[in-house]
Amino acid sequence: MNFKNVGITFIALVLFSCSNSKKIEQEIKPKNVILLISDGTGLSQISSAFYFKESTPNYARFENIGLINTSSSSHDITDSAAGGTAFGCGVKTYNGAIGVADDSTTVQNILELVSLKDISTGIIATSSITHATPASFYAHQISRTMNEEIALDFLTSEVDFFAGGGLKFFKNRKDKRNLLAALANKEFRIDTTALLDFPEIKTSEKVGFLLGEDGMSKMLEGRGDFLPNATELAIQYLSKDNAGFFIMAEGSQIDWGGHQNDSSYLITELIDFDNAVGKALDFAVKDGNTLVIVTSDHETGGFTLSAKKKKREDGSEYSDYREVGSSFSTGGHSATLIPVFAFGPGSEEFRGVYENNEVFEKILKVTNWN
Ligand code: MG
Ligand code: ZN
Repeated sequence: MNFKNVGITFIALVLFSCSNSKKIEQEIKPKNVILLISDGTGLSQISSAFYFKESTPNYARFENIGLINTSSSSHDITDSAAGGTAFGCGVKTYNGAIGVADDSTTVQNILELVSLKDISTGIIATSSITHATPASFYAHQISRTMNEEIALDFLTSEVDFFAGGGLKFFKNRKDKRNLLAALANKEFRIDTTALLDFPEIKTSEKVGFLLGEDGMSKMLEGRGDFLPNATELAIQYLSKDNAGFFIMAEGSQIDWGGHQNDSSYLITELIDFDNAVGKALDFAVKDGNTLVIVTSDHETGGFTLSAKKKKREDGSEYSDYREVGSSFSTGGHSATLIPVFAFGPGSEEFRGVYENNEVFEKILKVTNWN
């Protein structure tokens, strides 16, 4: 072999091993999936973290990004029930539907599907745990307003870990049933005061935290690090099982800040959500076998990061391009396309432009959970 041939052989070997390792990377099936949903969050809400968070946003850590159309089967502009059901059950349904199809029949959700494979599951929200988004992952009801019926669905659900608000729907019910006692009979340890530290939890018990009568308090009112801490605790608790886990964690109140056209409410909730994204990514980097998906059900408020309006000495108004302000175009939801961020094995699958219910299909495809 002359020098030229050695060189060609070397190049060929390098090319072969590169394409081979790339192929292997694409074939790894993630064992765990963490789906983080920020209710009511479009690109401007996400962008606010880049202007108002003191550290670099965790959103900046993603490489695979796509866009989804969020329309429901009944309306161009979705609500969180149809949006949640698209993610949780893989179907487009009517606004208001929780885990049921257009004809009101029950649709299997991802928790039911993965529990057949002994995969453990967690649900986290900063709203009531019976609110539209989290409910779409474990309940089946024809209307999102049926909070007490949704709470009842918990008794037959496949949830292993949950944290959020909604105590009154379990405790102070029209039917006088005490669902906390019923959950205790189903090996649940329920805490209504604070999150526990991981070592305090027995691995044999299921755990639920109900830390508010209805929705949890706002960040502006001192909720603290509940969402990132609950996300971290769920990861620690659920990764004890070898079969893998699925977690849905929701920043529920970004939507509420949007409805109220209150930018400081919205931005503080978004930054809190970004911190939870950081917890999921930190674990995924260490673990190497976890897919993290971050998206939203729809945008709320028609939120825009417009230049701050200021007044000149003569009283006339101008937009100061040196300072980012904010404005809203509606008190409701909007129809704008929504970003999807993905990290870890299988994350390439989430690139492109597609429908919201395809997120469900893509999760099943890359994990082989179906
Ligand atoms: Mg929600
Ligand atoms: Zn909303």
